[in-house]
Amino acid sequence: MRIRNFFDSFIKNVGPSPSAEAIVQSFNLFPEGEFLRSLIEDWEVDLAQTAEWMSHPEYGSRLGDIREFIRVVPRIVSHVEGIFGMRDSGLPGEIWLCPSLRVFDGFARYDSGAHRVILGVDHPDADAAYLRALMAHELSHVFRDHQPEVWSHLGKPLQNLSRAEYLEEQTAVEHLVSEGLATLFSQFAYPDVPLQLHHYYEEHEWQWCLDHHAKIDRSLRSCLQIDQDVWSFYAEGRVGLGSPSRTQYYWAAHIIREWLERLAPGRYGEILVQAHSWSASRFTPFL
Ligand SMILES: [Zn+2]
Repeated sequence: MRIRNFFDSFIKNVGPSPSAEAIVQSFNLFPEGEFLRSLIEDWEVDLAQTAEWMSHPEYGSRLGDIREFIRVVPRIVSHVEGIFGMRDSGLPGEIWLCPSLRVFDGFARYDSGAHRVILGVDHPDADAAYLRALMAHELSHVFRDHQPEVWSHLGKPLQNLSRAEYLEEQTAVEHLVSEGLATLFSQFAYPDVPLQLHHYYEEHEWQWCLDHHAKIDRSLRSCLQIDQDVWSFYAEGRVGLGSPSRTQYYWAAHIIREWLERLAPGRYGEILVQAHSWSASRFTPFL
């Protein structure tokens, strides 16, 4: 994948203790700044708060670690591509290393056959281990989307699939499969990163999931049978009082892992990579 670093030029342009205006103006300085501008508009980001956060001495003290992470990004990509058997060809698409503006840690954005993985490298919750796990997670989505079987039921090549169609065609089962696989993949690629970080959880949120596994299981199974709105599980408190957000990732990863281990005892890593190329209709535990 092509790696593009916008973070360093952003920091250079806004300087220490930036104003909200300086942040907005910096978006004019590189073409992709337009994307960040549309993002802050869509999400109604309060840039005055972002500016205040960036002006705090603690922010400045993290810059060294952030730059160290940026330096190892090529190694992370190469490690992931190696597991997927794509070290020579590389995964398709681009990685953008961006300022988080305090609002996003990272996501993969699909459009017309191409992906951009956008990482907010200075996000307050994200240290190097967190970002490593998140990057492996997003690259798992990229790899899966480009496997011929995954979108073959739509009857056209991926590059003809617009962003709107891609979002519209995301079924509940495909959502669970792709988030479950991405969660398992980051664990497999980086077993040294603590489990809760692969779920972007604080320790108490992770513990809540372990303590309430049966409740999460019942809640998601009945959701799949009734309204299929598994996206509602992004919300905190969806399963019950105190439940963290994204319990569907935790649940899907658990279900897929158990199933894959039964399918291919002793060959978990191999079958995990293979399963990325299977259409959602083959994931029988969700059907
Ligand atoms: Zn994901």
